[in-house]
Amino acid sequence: MSERSYQQEVLDRYESSLLGVFGKPTRALVRGSGSRVWDADGREYLDLLGGIAVNSLGHAHPRLAEAIAKQAGQLLHVSNFFTTEQQVCLAESLLARAAAPAGSGVFFTNSGTEANEAALKIARRTGRTRLLALSNSFHGRTLGALSLTAKEAYRAPFAPLLESVDFVPAGDVAALARELAANDVAALFVEPIQGEAGVQELSADYLRAARELTAQAGTLLVVDEVQTGIGRTGDWFAHSAAGIVPDVMTLAKGLGGGFPIGAVIAYGEENTSLLTAGQHGTTFGGNPLAATAGLTVLSVIADEHLLENARLRGQQFRRALATLPGVREVRGRGLLLGIGLEADRAADIVAAGLARPELGLILNAPRPDTIRLAPALTISEAETSLACEALAELITDARKEA
Ligand code: PLP
Repeated sequence: MSERSYQQEVLDRYESSLLGVFGKPTRALVRGSGSRVWDADGREYLDLLGGIAVNSLGHAHPRLAEAIAKQAGQLLHVSNFFTTEQQVCLAESLLARAAAPAGSGVFFTNSGTEANEAALKIARRTGRTRLLALSNSFHGRTLGALSLTAKEAYRAPFAPLLESVDFVPAGDVAALARELAANDVAALFVEPIQGEAGVQELSADYLRAARELTAQAGTLLVVDEVQTGIGRTGDWFAHSAAGIVPDVMTLAKGLGGGFPIGAVIAYGEENTSLLTAGQHGTTFGGNPLAATAGLTVLSVIADEHLLENARLRGQQFRRALATLPGVREVRGRGLLLGIGLEADRAADIVAAGLARPELGLILNAPRPDTIRLAPALTISEAETSLACEALAELITDARKEA
């Protein structure tokens, strides 16, 4: 009888102690360094998913680890009856990077879904109740954000959700114009690149039209940059490439580099004043530890020129993968990429990646025909070459087996 490995033991204990909402994990990870992680049996992996666009600085970045450790020894948490310099600095830094006008303001949360809940409450304060989101949208799993999420399988078990949400086909300007015509919509929620839908990018023209139409209709434009923000696409925020200024932006994932933090930015005095004292709150949001993590992530991205690296490495992935037999197209921008396959082999490729001898590959399949890549913004040229070779091998093998 073969002995159960340490990793297997952890996985078995997981099954008997955690809710089964994520399915059964196949690996227990113990440590990481940059774009590499190791599992409980000592196997090494190249991490091309980065905790789903979270580990923006890779694993165990020395500056982030040191800043968090130092802050933990100084002040972990204060109630929101108080503030800290770290919290104020992070708010100022986000407003500056977002080029938000005077009078703008930030509210900190612990996750993306909470950031969208706060945006929803801002929208409700316009006095209107009707909301619009796009087909294939994903805005989170709490009941408000879930109401804005299109996928029926996520929604149906929890009906009834917010009743005043309508979905419009992503990219269809005429349909959006029709929905906004009655001037009764509080807010339109958009993801500049729909990550969970398989990395589907909205065109700059669509975003500009959405900006114009919502402004005419007195509707707030909320850009959900939870997955696309904080340098992921090669810009601080993905919507900036379209030259638009939203009314509200939501952030999370990459902002803490692995430490849980989210944020909502309300642009300008008019939007900032919609929520007044006592109308929203959180216990943990924006505590000094989370704020320190966020500040450090922003500084390292700037100091290590990671926006440029995201662009360059994104191009490198694209060049190597776009013309590969079995690949239909490569979607996305910077280091949020969707490899569209000719056949529904993504799940097999993800499993084969993990099982590769010597160096495993951590990938993700948001759709049966799409592999999503969201590696650390620090991934090197050599690691990207290695990743491309391994991906080419996996895609070619999957094609042979088809
Ligand atoms: N919005 C978008 C665009 C996301 O991709 C996600 C998570 O994948 C969320 C919101 C929800 O974020 P969280 O899982 O931190 O609640």
